[in-house]
Amino acid sequence: MLSISEKLSQIHQRIECAVKQSQKNKHVQLLCVSKTKPVEAIEEAYLQGERHFGESYAVEASEKIETLRNKGYNDICWHFIGPIQKNKTKLIAEHFDIVESVDREIIVDRLSEQRPTNMKPLEILIEVNISGEEQKSGCLPEEIEKIAAAVVSKPNLHLKGLMGIAKDTADKNEIEQSFTNLNSLFEKLKTTYPDVNTLSMGMTHDLEQAVACGSTEVRIGTAIFGAREYRQGRADTSVAFIGGGNMASCIFESVIKSLSPRNVTVSGPHIEKLEHFKVSGAGITTDNILAAKKSKIIFLGVKPQMLTAVLQELADAKIDFEEKLVISMAAGYPLKSIEKILNSSRLVRIMPNTPAKIGEGVTAVTFAKGCADPDKELVRLLLKGMGTVCEGNERQLNVIGAVAGCGPAFVYRFMEALISESVRHGLDEKDSRAMVEQLFKGTADMVINNQQQSIAALREAVTSKGGTTFAGLTKMSEGGFEEMMQKVIQASLDRTAEFESMF
Ligand SMILES: *Cc1c(COP(=O)(O)O)cnc(C)c1O
Repeated sequence: MLSISEKLSQIHQRIECAVKQSQKNKHVQLLCVSKTKPVEAIEEAYLQGERHFGESYAVEASEKIETLRNKGYNDICWHFIGPIQKNKTKLIAEHFDIVESVDREIIVDRLSEQRPTNMKPLEILIEVNISGEEQKSGCLPEEIEKIAAAVVSKPNLHLKGLMGIAKDTADKNEIEQSFTNLNSLFEKLKTTYPDVNTLSMGMTHDLEQAVACGSTEVRIGTAIFGAREYRQGRADTSVAFIGGGNMASCIFESVIKSLSPRNVTVSGPHIEKLEHFKVSGAGITTDNILAAKKSKIIFLGVKPQMLTAVLQELADAKIDFEEKLVISMAAGYPLKSIEKILNSSRLVRIMPNTPAKIGEGVTAVTFAKGCADPDKELVRLLLKGMGTVCEGNERQLNVIGAVAGCGPAFVYRFMEALISESVRHGLDEKDSRAMVEQLFKGTADMVINNQQQSIAALREAVTSKGGTTFAGLTKMSEGGFEEMMQKVIQASLDRTAEFESMF
């Protein structure tokens, strides 16, 4: 394995090459992204001459910054690059030199108020959402002007430029398009504010494209320090379930595969219905607020039509929700409605399907803006016990809901039809069921075990022209099978949209 210093020289070569190729012949600053990495790794990079370090988590970073200051490293320029929670602005204002992830005015106000007067003005980059993914942080391009004006109006802040993160995709054109867009926004900003000189874009996997599109600073973590390992804090992760129904029980079973049930509190209006959680070792209560207050992670397991009232109850209790990760399983209840009530965007929506009960489910997951990487890792860990986790934006969540959430019922219906036909043609009911069970299981395994083949190819392999299967499939086409499935999924999606418009 290469040492940090060897990896640093490789990355400097990559940057140099990219600069040469871009024929713009200018300096591109390397920001070493050291989040989750120990102070020793930072010291090693420092000894190679690096002075710019980027961190994403305010508490972790502040501790590292203080440790290194006490050791005499006084000339490091610290960049904050992570999503900013309101209650962390003080730590950030007191420890950092540059904040790259400013994306709303409230953060501008707080950073300026909380910047100690004996420190030089805090440099500010405005983070722009250039990937078009609504769950990603960063302001919209049309909000830049307003935020920039707010920054320059503050005595303790100094506007320096823009930052952006491209979509994590293999599509190079898409990445280049978003970098080009950010560069134009940067050029435009420069004409109003002559001090603006920093365009922070490019990470390990897309630094060449970023430099080609005019980046002045690349933020590199993995290529210098290796893959990040998130501490999952299993021992002290406390979880509340507000509502203890079927789905909550199912998620609870998954959660206690990675956490002790002693860290879990379940609340619900009828204490006797929560008894089985207590038997498994969890705490139970009828007090939602109590459960929420003592927990870092809150699963909302109440019905969509009850959720507004429960959210309001929690909001009225003055709980600081930016301290908590809130996970809703209420179908059709949009993130933005939850955000409005709780005043936090550290939110997740999930939708497990029923096979999750036996660990064979599909759970759709969508993260709101305020979720940092460790939040996401934790959610994946906690849901893993229910089967596959499928992530997407909120619109995709609904699609996953229609296909995988409603899907078991569609598949049951298909199984019922096959069983009833085999009974009609003289087979015993029990034998028919056993046959159809194995049919579905075996067919699913054929698909799973033959990833290199399309499902169409597998189908064609069992369909000789003019044969019996062929005759059956022809009838499916004549009966409009594809059109019908289209209508089936559309009907589920339409119903979801109706629900969403209610909340
Ligand atoms: C973690 C992080 C990086 C570093 O990403 P790598 O792919 O590891 O180089 C850069 N920018 C931001 C905003 C980050 O959070």
